[in-house]
Amino acid sequence: MLKKVLIANRGEIAVRIIRACQELGIKAVAVYSEADRDSLHVRLADEAICIGPGPNAQSYLNMANVLMAAVISGSDAVHPGYGYFSEQEQFADALQTLGIKFIGPPVDAISVMGDKAAARLAAIESKCPVVPGSDGLITSDEHAIELASKFGYPVLLKAAAGGGGRGIRRVESPEELPRLLQLASQEAEASFGNGAMYLEKCIDNPRHVEIQVIADSYGNCVSLGERECSVQNLRHQKMIEEAPFAGMDADKRREMGECAVRLAKSVGYVNAGTVEFLMDEDGEFYFIEMNTRLQVEHPVTEQVTGIDIVQTMLKVASGEELPFSQEDISWSGHSIEARITAQDPSRDFAPSCGRIVVWDPPKAEHIRIETFVEEGVEITPFYDPMIAKLIVTGDDRNDAVRKLADALSNFTIEGVQTNISFLRELIAHEDYVRGDVDTKWVARMMNEVAGGV
Ligand code: ADP
Repeated sequence: MLKKVLIANRGEIAVRIIRACQELGIKAVAVYSEADRDSLHVRLADEAICIGPGPNAQSYLNMANVLMAAVISGSDAVHPGYGYFSEQEQFADALQTLGIKFIGPPVDAISVMGDKAAARLAAIESKCPVVPGSDGLITSDEHAIELASKFGYPVLLKAAAGGGGRGIRRVESPEELPRLLQLASQEAEASFGNGAMYLEKCIDNPRHVEIQVIADSYGNCVSLGERECSVQNLRHQKMIEEAPFAGMDADKRREMGECAVRLAKSVGYVNAGTVEFLMDEDGEFYFIEMNTRLQVEHPVTEQVTGIDIVQTMLKVASGEELPFSQEDISWSGHSIEARITAQDPSRDFAPSCGRIVVWDPPKAEHIRIETFVEEGVEITPFYDPMIAKLIVTGDDRNDAVRKLADALSNFTIEGVQTNISFLRELIAHEDYVRGDVDTKWVARMMNEVAGGV
């Protein structure tokens, strides 16, 4: 078993991973910025190393400092969490050179899946349905126009190196294509240092359904089932996620799971990963990308499978075989996660900073809260606005939705503005209650709730 793990992250996910390490008797090393000096993750860890000033570029994204901290602390592995270096092959590669284990997939798997055009090709080869689109990259305006007329408008231009919804443009007609291609490519170049683009047909009103997989280094790979993440904001960022997908039957679950496992195996995948699909109105599913890391929404899968994904990641990285096979996996109940953010819904979701003066989350057996926040904590402008994840688990979807409504009503936070009132209105909406949502639903609801932002 690993002895000492450095967590190259902050916030709730650092706290979550530290907890898993300690449950397995592994020493946890935190890194922190000067702005996070008093953070919970720093106090919970067995050791903590300051890696620079508040801004990410100078601390959590300062690769030399993070690597140095791993060396100085004598850590034998690094868990990257999500975001930051979690999907950066250079980081995994540098750790390998230093003889330190990266808790994630092999470098080659990160690089195939990090190039979304290459990932599409890998999916095609492993017989996963993909959205109709280009076989590889767009080479010119004419090429893009020719492809778009073949698949039919609207189409999406997508950045090969994309992530977080950046570098995506919807195109309605050939006239606007060259201009939008240039814009999207420039945005991708600025965000990812790579302006390469590919093209996909736009699926009407899709649902976002993803499969959690986990693999060990002995060729075993298991699907832990699906999550439904269609409640997304205008920038395609997920707001509410659930497991299982209430509209899923056992055959479709098996089919999607097998697809995801085939794809993961085809790239020699090891450790936890998520294969993302869009599902159209007829229930057909199409691969869109694979995230080669732990995801924000992993707790809902843990709740319904009873499997601790973070502990399993640590065991796999320690060289253990997966402690379960596909036949051992079953699902019970229904779990929903709502991302609580320090954002002001009445000001176009602008980040809200300040000191938390009251922090009174709901407490019950069916409620799980992942957070780094306590009374007195300062929410700074440096980091992602997510301050907590509220996870509720019920007997079935109706029960879980009711429990979530209740939990949100009993969550008191003072000192910063939060999205709680907005979430409450969203989940009270009849479409959500019926489970009738798609990835554009929040955009349509924006005019109806929270005063029409
Ligand atoms: P990113 O890596 O930036 O998150 P994804 O490829 O995962 O990009 O897509 C993000 C979101 O964009 C999806 O969840 C979905 O809402 C929307 N999207 C992506 N591809 C398509 C498509 N072909 N048709 C319709 N919507 C899409």
